[in-house]
Amino acid sequence: MKKLIVSLILLFITTTFFAQHKIFTHQDTLRGSITKERIWWDLKHYDLTISVHPETKTISGKNSIRYKVLKSYQIIQIDLQEPMKITKVTQDGSSLNFKKDGYSYFIELLNKQLKGDENEITVFFEGKPTIAIRPPWDGGLTWEKDSNNLDFIATSCQGDGASLWWPCKDHMYDEPENMAINITTPNHLMDVSNGRLKKITQNNDNTKTYHWYVENPINNYGVNMNVADYAHFSEKYEGENGPLDCDYYVLKENLDKAKKQFKQVPLMLEAFEHWFGPYPFYEDSFKLVEVPYLGMEHQSSVTYGNHYQNGYLGRDLSSTGWGLKFDFIIIHESGHEWFANSITYKDIADMWIHEGFTAYSENLYLDYHYGTEACNEYVIGTRQNIRNDRPIIGPYGVNQSGSGDMYSKGANMLHTLRQLLEDDEKWREILRGLNKEFYHQTVTTQQIENYLSKHTQIDLTAFFNQYLRDVRIPTLEYKILENKITFRWVQIVENFDMPIKVYLNTSEKWIFPTKDWKEISSKSTLSNFAIDKNFYVESKLLN
Ligand SMILES: [Zn+2]
Repeated sequence: MKKLIVSLILLFITTTFFAQHKIFTHQDTLRGSITKERIWWDLKHYDLTISVHPETKTISGKNSIRYKVLKSYQIIQIDLQEPMKITKVTQDGSSLNFKKDGYSYFIELLNKQLKGDENEITVFFEGKPTIAIRPPWDGGLTWEKDSNNLDFIATSCQGDGASLWWPCKDHMYDEPENMAINITTPNHLMDVSNGRLKKITQNNDNTKTYHWYVENPINNYGVNMNVADYAHFSEKYEGENGPLDCDYYVLKENLDKAKKQFKQVPLMLEAFEHWFGPYPFYEDSFKLVEVPYLGMEHQSSVTYGNHYQNGYLGRDLSSTGWGLKFDFIIIHESGHEWFANSITYKDIADMWIHEGFTAYSENLYLDYHYGTEACNEYVIGTRQNIRNDRPIIGPYGVNQSGSGDMYSKGANMLHTLRQLLEDDEKWREILRGLNKEFYHQTVTTQQIENYLSKHTQIDLTAFFNQYLRDVRIPTLEYKILENKITFRWVQIVENFDMPIKVYLNTSEKWIFPTKDWKEISSKSTLSNFAIDKNFYVESKLLN
């Protein structure tokens, strides 16, 4: 009998283990970890040149990769996913040998790599890149046509990685300091990529090359090319760091609609510079670029496909009405310029740093333009999207993100933290401080958590463990007696003791629950007990 129980328990443990834990492969580790063939060199510069061939849905080109030697080593890892392939690698005029292991190429360098040296390799590649099935959630190329039957082409690759279409160091921890992107398109089309358009060269085979230059560090998946018969209009925004060039590229058929809808860009910049500090890429300008999919936070060339309407494809994610006051893609994807493009996760397991803060930026946009009550209603409304299925933080080193709860639950966690601080000016200083401290850097969740603990002067260790590393929602159990209320936290991680604001006899009061029962009492009868809805917690009245 005992044996049977043990086997049943084992069976239960094994099935839950396999239900919750994906088995990771050698390929996941090569893609998601800082391997010994990656760690020895610091990425300095990419010079990426690509020709786009719409008739065959293929691309070809080369990427010159400049790096600094941190530690002498002779093998360099460069990633490119099938069906794309690397055809040749050169350094100082010599052709190099390489071995392929799945999506990673291990290239043997001939010249001795000396610590401190800056060297360059050039990687030649070609192929028919993966076609995105459900962009931007599945990465790849999108080959569409506009209403004049002209090509309308775009890339998107968050998660899958930039090595879906061009060879690079496909790990987020290391970014080039700057980057040149040169895209050749048929004569009648144009390319819009990141940064600024430096020049257009006319080639003698009925093609043109668009030379873009990014002056700031850029993450892999932020790099993009968008090829279409675009119309262009622009404006200058007078921002915290002076005039900011805002350029818009849209299909000609949508020019009038875009001129109306994109009036939200200055409103967005005003709100976000207020809360987060200066737009992080003045040198590279701000752009909105129409694409044949919903949208993506491509650095300084945010892509847009929300059909010139408010909400998320016309829907309000909060069901409160506030979600229809703004164009979700303009606001959300631009919010990522601060959280994703300037402050970037080192490992996709910490993707909440991008999505939690950016989902929260939607609330702050509403707060700035419509007031705190609108912000509160919206963020509380988005709780309907939380599933509490898996922790927000995913497993490290295998290119795997955590739960989709990183959006709405991440935003509600930050909203709860704002309540704990009870000082909006201080909260704004902290958000702006984060953007100063980690400006143009790749970071870990621990760095963000430590910064928030230090500057709120609250030890948030258990708070973050609860919301980021556990799926349970803290639940306040309470009993109401005539002139006494007893309460305690259940469903909590170790040491979780978050205070909360409650209403009692219509007045506001902070209580300090722990895992042990506590009580508050009064001489008069206690009534109308309620928890402030801004805290993302649950409650249970016991009889
Ligand atoms: Zn996002």
